[in-house]
Amino acid sequence: MEVLLHEDLAALSDLDEQSLLESLSQRFRQDRIYTYIGDILVAINPFKYLPLYEKEVSESYKYHEKTKLPPHIFAVADRAYQSMLGRLATGPRNQCIVISGESGAGKTESTKLLLRQIMELCRANSQLEQQILQVNPLLEAFGNAQTVMNDNSSRFGKYIQLRFHNSSVKGAKINEYLLEKSRVVHQDEGERNFHIFYCMLAGISPEDKDMYGLLNPTQYRYLNGRYGSEDIVRKWGEKYSEVCNAMDMVGFEEQEKVDMMTILAGILSLGNIMFEPTETDALRVTDKSMGWLKATAGQFGVQEEELLRSLTCTLSVMRGEAIRRLHNQQQAEDARDSIAKVAYGRVFGWIVSKVNELLAPNVDFDVELSEIGILDIFGFENFAVNRFEQLCINLANEQLQYFFNHHIFLMEQNEYKEEGIEWESISFKDNKPILDLFLTKPIGILSLLDEQSAFPQASDRDFVDKLNSKFKSSPHYEVVRSHSPLFTVVHYAGKVQYNGLGFLEKNRDTIPASIRSLFINSVTPLLSLLFLMQKADDNFNSTRKQSVGAQFKHSLAVLMEKMFVASPHFVRCIKPNGRKLPDQVDNKIVMDQLRYNGLLETIRIRRDGFSWRPSFKEFAQRCTFVHLMKCTLCGWCLFFSCMSILNTTEIHGWKCGSSRMFFKYWHQEELARLLERLG
Ligand code: ATP
Ligand code: MG
Repeated sequence: MEVLLHEDLAALSDLDEQSLLESLSQRFRQDRIYTYIGDILVAINPFKYLPLYEKEVSESYKYHEKTKLPPHIFAVADRAYQSMLGRLATGPRNQCIVISGESGAGKTESTKLLLRQIMELCRANSQLEQQILQVNPLLEAFGNAQTVMNDNSSRFGKYIQLRFHNSSVKGAKINEYLLEKSRVVHQDEGERNFHIFYCMLAGISPEDKDMYGLLNPTQYRYLNGRYGSEDIVRKWGEKYSEVCNAMDMVGFEEQEKVDMMTILAGILSLGNIMFEPTETDALRVTDKSMGWLKATAGQFGVQEEELLRSLTCTLSVMRGEAIRRLHNQQQAEDARDSIAKVAYGRVFGWIVSKVNELLAPNVDFDVELSEIGILDIFGFENFAVNRFEQLCINLANEQLQYFFNHHIFLMEQNEYKEEGIEWESISFKDNKPILDLFLTKPIGILSLLDEQSAFPQASDRDFVDKLNSKFKSSPHYEVVRSHSPLFTVVHYAGKVQYNGLGFLEKNRDTIPASIRSLFINSVTPLLSLLFLMQKADDNFNSTRKQSVGAQFKHSLAVLMEKMFVASPHFVRCIKPNGRKLPDQVDNKIVMDQLRYNGLLETIRIRRDGFSWRPSFKEFAQRCTFVHLMKCTLCGWCLFFSCMSILNTTEIHGWKCGSSRMFFKYWHQEELARLLERLG
């Protein structure tokens, strides 16, 4: 296949925003959704089926030569796999593929394609490979939901670690980040609850429906009393069998499955319990929802009175004396919702840990095996109302952007400087100050949130007032004059106004002792287990209960630690329009993404920069030259060896620094070809 013009935009001569946009949309109109910018892959979501992923295509990209085939997500898989095997340039053996883009841009689809292709590349132990691919429907059913941005939006972030010994995969581990639990109890206009609820209701047999005590879907408040058309319901039903198959494959026992579905049914019933005040201080469950209380208690396997008590009052112990504080209506509703969220969150966490047990039966993730990590984390979000969840999601994106900047820009420029190579400085938007605004101790947004969360009496307003007084002069923060606790952060991707309501509670995320003991005493074995179990996640092995913000900050730091020592591969996903439509490019929407993705600067640095920088020794070893010379590895010998190798080739445009060589990204393949010719 001939290489088409501008498959690599690093080769564009007239470089500006407009020409970048035009090249991408021109290619997109011809269904060429993938484009390179040097070794970064830009992927535009086609929102339609394209015959790009068939068996023959997959075959043709195995061990291919990059310039011979059009840009493709399979090419990224191939490159990561080969680099992991040490077949390409020297560098860290561990690889990480960072997929970024806003919600609906195609990150999760890209992740699935990458996984599929990597599994194709290492066909050996087919059962494990199949299992790695098959757990996805299960995770998506419990972790994805329809949002205004994306019909299958991931409401959790994930980093998939694939572990290899030589060329075959030995295990996989899924790290999950911040499941958006609040979706269980509330969805904004045009959005839905997690897929699993609808799938279960649509796919379950009438007998099981009776057994779980499920009623008509439109009755459930947590589903907003909405269900779907016949067509959609049929699809949900099909999905349900897929999920059940995945569960069998993961190795869930029959009882565990029954328990899991019963808990989900319990969550739905729980949402329908409503309260009303009485003449005394006490609160009671409305007559209409008494049936729901009974149903919930049955489904959760707990005593009805105990459930009622944990909803309507808080027990605390003060100076050895138990004190019962009655809830007002709001507090009772909050208790109800937090039970639903915590139960769902625990089920999800448990599924992930079961999946991990299956996928890494005998793999110790601390021993030295080569690794390919794939990061699929929620895109940047800016909704009509942005809450604590959006703040965390946007912080993660800020961190990823920093990683990208750091890698692409700073590392290159600093190294050129250190090595004495001439380099015209390229300006780019450094987002470190925004990260600092969030993460600095003791006065970053997250630290201030923790500080306020530690005061039981503090309100969300107090928190936002604190932010206002600390950051009013920061260029990345804007005070909002309003009765509501609003504040604005100027993110790298644009301004986002957050509503601080609920921040303290969500950050604390505490389970009252009474709720914990209620569940521990449940006769449903799974529920009891979920509340006995300490969170078995090595990211959070602290004994002290950390706030959600602090946990997230920690898991981001752990992730970054892994990523900074791996060879990164970047996939930038772009959404062509905001209406999820095929064949339509909305220039403004695309341009915004190009701008905040830093893609324009990337083109310049990739085109002009040197992306492969082996030390003299690494380079000489790569050429097996030293071996041939049988020479002691003194610095000068190496230096001259490298020079003489290169001077005899037709490879041009490289530079020589004080300790290493500098090559353009295409030199690597030229050199590989040359070495192959030389045998
Ligand atoms: P979020 O951050 O909300 O999870 P995302 O970036 O993961 O978003 P995806 O779920 O991967 O987005 O993609 C959204 C939808 O776009 C998919 O459900 C699918 O319909 C379509 N899509 C994405 N990539 C492709 C592709 N390569 N070919 C065809 N359709 C695609
Ligand atoms: Mg996704």
